[in-house]
Amino acid sequence: MISLTLSDIFEARRTIAGTASDTPLVPSAHLSARAGGEFLLKLETTQPVGAFKLRGAVNAVFKLEDATRGVTCCSTGNHGRGVAFAARARGIRAVICMSSLVPQTKIDGIKALGAEVHIVGRSQDEALAGSLRLCAEEGLTEISPFDDPQVIAGQGTIGLEILERRPDIATLLVPLSGGGLAGGVALAAKTIKPSVRVVGISMDRGAAMHASLAAGRPVEVEEVASLADSLGGGIGLDNKLSFRLCRDHLDDVILVTEEEIYRALQTHYFEDRLVCEGASAVGAAALIAGRLGDLAGPVATIITGRNVDMAVFSAIMRGADVTLGDYRITGVPYAA
Ligand SMILES: *Cc1c(COP(=O)(O)O)cnc(C)c1O
Repeated sequence: MISLTLSDIFEARRTIAGTASDTPLVPSAHLSARAGGEFLLKLETTQPVGAFKLRGAVNAVFKLEDATRGVTCCSTGNHGRGVAFAARARGIRAVICMSSLVPQTKIDGIKALGAEVHIVGRSQDEALAGSLRLCAEEGLTEISPFDDPQVIAGQGTIGLEILERRPDIATLLVPLSGGGLAGGVALAAKTIKPSVRVVGISMDRGAAMHASLAAGRPVEVEEVASLADSLGGGIGLDNKLSFRLCRDHLDDVILVTEEEIYRALQTHYFEDRLVCEGASAVGAAALIAGRLGDLAGPVATIITGRNVDMAVFSAIMRGADVTLGDYRITGVPYAA
């Protein structure tokens, strides 16, 4: 069984220092007033690739003993950007496999970070198969987006930074998908300060970790389009580590609706002057919707990334309707 401890997270911090940033932790005046106590934002939007995934990717890529043949993954989102950036920093090859359905802007974004893009098949599964084929045939190493001990240790450095800067933090609100972030942050935070409450937050449509924790084992859920697109996808039926960490260390998992995420994105923009992804706004969404129960402060949430589709983002800021697959969110202009 793979194990991970606080000392791995301290070591990750030394490894990623100088490549991934130690990010600002800033108060939100508006959300603090709503929470009735200090509410802080950890701005991973300020990482070089615009998302926290750089931390785990850099730690995993830099820790590889034999990296001469390069690395691969099939993420078209923030993990793909992180792996591309990390490989360039280490001076090795990165191949990101994508399906032919991925939009050209995403392909261009990854190529701009110096990675090769292989277009494989017409689904994410086929892209993953392409990635695994490269491992078998060309000796590349696959870097998992959330179920890898070095990736989780890298994400856990966020927990260290928050509690070192603010040892008085009582509640941490962590966006939750595959659980690499929440697992690493909760492990760090709870080892340093066992009384801290760590809450994972997902969207209420297609939340794989929430369903898996309820079932007591990894289960599959149907993937649907969401404003929190970075929180979509499964946790892997053969999950090795992130499921166990979330089960053992999270105090709660809370779900928020698309309408609540919509409102939270407007609030971050108009009140905090912040552009971020739907996945990053779930902490504010849970607060504003009153889903957090009795909230002990100070509270911190992680603003995980800023790689949002700007056409959707500007529609939300105008208060326009947004259609996601077969789901329609009725727009409402922002009013405090
Ligand atoms: C990946 C990601 C998450 C969720 O992280 P997990 O480790 O998969 O739980 C949250 N926000 C953003 C922006 C992400 O890219």
